[in-house]
Amino acid sequence: MCLFCDIAAHKFDANIVDETERTITFLDIAPANEGHVLIIPKLHVDSILDLPDEYVLEITEVERRVIKAYSKVYGATGYGVMQNGGTNCEFGHFHFHVFPRLPDDGYDWIYPEGEKEVSAEVAAKIKAAM
Ligand SMILES: [Zn+2]
Repeated sequence: MCLFCDIAAHKFDANIVDETERTITFLDIAPANEGHVLIIPKLHVDSILDLPDEYVLEITEVERRVIKAYSKVYGATGYGVMQNGGTNCEFGHFHFHVFPRLPDDGYDWIYPEGEKEVSAEVAAKIKAAM
């Protein structure tokens, strides 16, 4: 169905670091830092909302193992996790970006310009919708 499905089916080469019943984890070809991986479910969905609970749990378990490995491999004292979903999901296939963080590694979030409201009203409207 997509490039990630092909990687999960071993039809397209990737630098695979881990594979479980429901997930496959491989190096991102455009890493934020060395060791940056993508953890994907072996299921083509574009949102965590469409991912069965057992997949979410297994992805989280893999994520924790990857983060522990970063400590051993890089001496990483921190890590970053990113995930874009729905219409912002590349390839339309849900994936977690996980990468090691080191002090002064130069990585930073980039936010769009402009004012954003931070208030009790914003918190209240999200809380009411949950
Ligand atoms: Zn796919």
